[in-house]
Amino acid sequence: MNDAPPAVTAAIAAVFGAIVGSFLNVCIYRLPLGTSIVWPASACPHCRREIAWFENIPIVSYLVLRGRCRTCRQPIGMQYPIVEAITAAMFGFAWWYYGPSVLLVSRLIFGCALIVLFVIDLEHQLLPNVITLPGIVVGFAFSFFTEPGWIDSLLGIVVGGGTLLLMFYLYLLVRKKEGLGMGDPKMLAMMGAFLGWKMTLVALMFASVAGSLVGLTMMATRRGSMESMLPFGCFLAVGAAFAATIGPSMLQWYLRLF
Ligand SMILES: [Zn+2]
Repeated sequence: MNDAPPAVTAAIAAVFGAIVGSFLNVCIYRLPLGTSIVWPASACPHCRREIAWFENIPIVSYLVLRGRCRTCRQPIGMQYPIVEAITAAMFGFAWWYYGPSVLLVSRLIFGCALIVLFVIDLEHQLLPNVITLPGIVVGFAFSFFTEPGWIDSLLGIVVGGGTLLLMFYLYLLVRKKEGLGMGDPKMLAMMGAFLGWKMTLVALMFASVAGSLVGLTMMATRRGSMESMLPFGCFLAVGAAFAATIGPSMLQWYLRLF
């Protein structure tokens, strides 16, 4: 592998990523339903016909079938090829950016968790414990072998989870209703475990700014009130992706302003 040009190895990583993305789709579809992610085989949600292997090729099958089930002609969600394409891009990019390392494996597992959380939060306003809680453990375990180191990781769990928990209770106190779900603090604790406390705060800041901007835009265009804005977990996932890549240089730039 080391002799192959970087573009070739990144492309191989992307193809592998598309296959992983196909599995993430299964998780996204089944986790909110509480059914097993390994059994039974995937079926069309409309006509229940089992999906053959050649209909299950990431991205390609969707294009060949023109986004419809082969039997009942019902449309297949755009979410499937999009998740596969984004996972493929993430694997290709991460391979190129981090190189073969423990950090690469840690970041890919983290990235897959973020993709699943993003889509499930978008569709169900839910951040399942089956992702966030094991995510905290896995992130902390990786921190003994790679960035950010176990002390930083532990602080990340406490600071990340604690900050949002505090915001949760403050909002409850002031507005007399829940502004965040309890899934958000657990997701931020997971981000803390993988990224360490500094990058978690960078991700939180990014998510808050992006969330406010989108919320204000939606209010200004009268497409929804502040309450009906996108779930916060989606912004956290995007913030985490930024923090995991350009976060350190963003923080340096910001600190130099003072
Ligand atoms: Zn069908």
